[in-house]
Amino acid sequence: MAIYAAPGQADSVVSFKPRYDHYIGGEYVAPAKGQYFENPTPQTGQTFTEVARGTADDVEKALDAAEGAATAWGKTSVGERAGILNAMADRIEANLEKIAVAESWENGKAVRETLVADIPLAIDHLRYFAGAIRAQEGHLSQIDEDTVAYHFHEPLGVVGQIIPWNFPILMAIWKLAPALAAGNAVVLKPAEQTPASIHVLMDVVGDLLPPGVLNIVNGFGVEAGKPLASSSRIRKIAFTGETTTGRLISQYASENLIPVTLELGGKSPNIFFDDVASQQDAFYDKALEGFAMFALNQGEVCTCPSRALVQGGIYDEFVAQGVKRAEQVRMGNPLDTETQMGAQASNDQLEKILSYIDIGRQEGARVLTGGERADLGGDLGGGYYVQPTVFEGNNSMRIFQEEIFGPVLSVARFEDYADAMAQANDTLYGLGAGVWSRDTNTAYRAGRDIQAGRVWVNNYHAYPAHAAFGGYKQSGIGRENHKMMLDHYQQTKNILQSY
Ligand code: NAD
Repeated sequence: MAIYAAPGQADSVVSFKPRYDHYIGGEYVAPAKGQYFENPTPQTGQTFTEVARGTADDVEKALDAAEGAATAWGKTSVGERAGILNAMADRIEANLEKIAVAESWENGKAVRETLVADIPLAIDHLRYFAGAIRAQEGHLSQIDEDTVAYHFHEPLGVVGQIIPWNFPILMAIWKLAPALAAGNAVVLKPAEQTPASIHVLMDVVGDLLPPGVLNIVNGFGVEAGKPLASSSRIRKIAFTGETTTGRLISQYASENLIPVTLELGGKSPNIFFDDVASQQDAFYDKALEGFAMFALNQGEVCTCPSRALVQGGIYDEFVAQGVKRAEQVRMGNPLDTETQMGAQASNDQLEKILSYIDIGRQEGARVLTGGERADLGGDLGGGYYVQPTVFEGNNSMRIFQEEIFGPVLSVARFEDYADAMAQANDTLYGLGAGVWSRDTNTAYRAGRDIQAGRVWVNNYHAYPAHAAFGGYKQSGIGRENHKMMLDHYQQTKNILQSY
């Protein structure tokens, strides 16, 4: 057990700068309009740094730098790029605690998650794409005796990337690793709630990349994100965030006819069949843990298993035990490695979650546990904490249909397989789903019948780099992770040559 010192204290492993500018062309650049915004920590509600408020002029400057660097970077050998990605991974690993504490402080999440899951996963993604780019091969087809078709992979050039606040470092690396491996130069806009984590990351790895290959413009969505996504100077825009914002990004991109990757919202079903409880063994215990996963990362996960569908034969007993499991989730000081659930990422997010808890009550859903803001007292008294909350209701309620993005679980009963699939698929979203069954046929069928890009069977919330991830329906367009992601960051050049 350890409690990390809060940034600002003498023995903290991380010290934030009082002010963060944009990172453009390998150096820090003040915002064109000279404006900054305050950045509070969700752990206490206190401002700890201020950040450049980007506008279209800053985006143009970043695009200048990226265009200046793109050609030379695109011509480097795959071995050289892979070497840099591996070096980035090594540096992050050597600075694990610093980055993990920085992210916990800025986002509110439990440091145990950033230490053992988020940052190690980011490291692994860099190493995976370093390997994938070296293993990538072109194609040659013989057309006839005298003619061959060569197919080459070429980088797109300058790409834009816009990310959310729920996994600041991991979301950045998910996008950067394939884009850089493929030889593109990047302008990235972090979320306005979590820009400083990205700059702590840049302090650690920035010098490994040639100036201009990776540029960071801070700021808000409409002021900085829109000029980036709608610029005719980018060759692709990759976005992760809300479905409503994704729709706008898609509109901006269509003006310039550039490709988009959209990783959007979700309302993932987590389905527990009767046979789960046929024995009270390790499998049963794992299923209960899966039920309580809605509180992981404070529920601020696009694939949060926010709808539990439980079969009638085990419903009463399984839900009662699942609720007990949720009550055992240790909420507390996010910098304490024993803490499992920390603070919500912002006051806005806290308010949104509390308003959905009110909506659930008004709709007639029954609160099985939680349902209130949590006051942790002391320095943490001003932080954005909410109790893990479980509602019982039905799938037509708003708390079953709308993304809350907090530790709020909505539970309903199903009768048979067809009913489970009908309820699971009765949603606008199609990002993630969980299926729990000891019967491999049931598990396999459900895995195929659920309309979602990722179905976890007898586990939940693993994100290996080599498993493709992305949404069906309104949860997105395209995939991230897996080497197929390289195709999203490359053009195919064909040369048809005769002798
Ligand atoms: P958001 O859409 O509000 O913001 C995401 C990013 O877009 C931020 O950087 C923001 O500044 C920017 N932005 C906002 N408006 C913009 C505009 N008009 N033009 C350009 N950029 C704009 O989302 P959020 O609240 O930061 O993140 C939470 C959402 O992200 C949830 O819906 C969650 O499900 C989703 N998410 C999806 C995945 C996935 O992989 N599918 C992963 C994480 C989060």
